[in-house]
Amino acid sequence: MFKNLSQRDTCTVEWSDLMYYQCPRERDLIAYYKNFADDLYSGELNNCVAESGGRKSKGKPNGKKPVPEEKKLYLEPEYTKLRITDFEFKELVMLPREIDLNEWLASNTTTFFHHINLQYSTISEFCTGESCQTMAVCNTQYYWYDERGKKIKCTAPQYVDFVMSSVQKLVTDEDVFPTKYGKEFPNSFESLVKKICKYLFHVLAHIYSSHFKETLALELHGHLNTLYTHFILFIREFNLVDPKETTIMDDLTEILCSSGSGSSSNGSGNSSAGAQNHVKER
Ligand SMILES: [Zn+2]
Repeated sequence: MFKNLSQRDTCTVEWSDLMYYQCPRERDLIAYYKNFADDLYSGELNNCVAESGGRKSKGKPNGKKPVPEEKKLYLEPEYTKLRITDFEFKELVMLPREIDLNEWLASNTTTFFHHINLQYSTISEFCTGESCQTMAVCNTQYYWYDERGKKIKCTAPQYVDFVMSSVQKLVTDEDVFPTKYGKEFPNSFESLVKKICKYLFHVLAHIYSSHFKETLALELHGHLNTLYTHFILFIREFNLVDPKETTIMDDLTEILCSSGSGSSSNGSGNSSAGAQNHVKER
């Protein structure tokens, strides 16, 4: 049943390489991700970071009073049109024949975790307890829930740290994301993947809503748009995140995923606001 386990077992390359190794027609994307990493760590980029130093996000919700809806810069056509590839993501996310579904979910989820972590790292110095006192996306606040289900109010960087630490723990847990031959995925695998994707979505949404200016200054909005489009089409393809959860970014999703690369106009359009893991401020 898990015939691809042996491939994962013997493969020593990065997850992202493995994903495209299994899917040769999409090898172009290896270059895309390599360029991404090169850009992130180039000297040129570091200069940009230094120049942007001290910039603080403004008008963040503080949990007490609603702030007026700011103009969403990330919806401006001049920015939404920028991608780093015209690749057809809708085809890319589809389960290739002969590949086990859980293997495909594991491989993609792990890859998205790494790339969203990388994308967040580019603006992390601007995402501080002072600039982002709550984990806010537009006017919605997210709270972290600990292992016993206790609600924890935290700053955005703390929330992202909770997300990244717990996802890291899961994707490296051999009992949850098995790589050894003969080891099967747990029954809870799909629900854990869903949980991971939900939290990764929160991080992406926070980058757009609170750190798009910094992303623009770094000229990484093309990368962010590309990553977002790929991620949304992936979670839609396998129904991994409740559409209610992603409603908050429907305006952007509509633009990025309905035209150009990875066209898709169905999915979360009819969903209503509100979700189990966040609290509306108003
Ligand atoms: Zn932030």
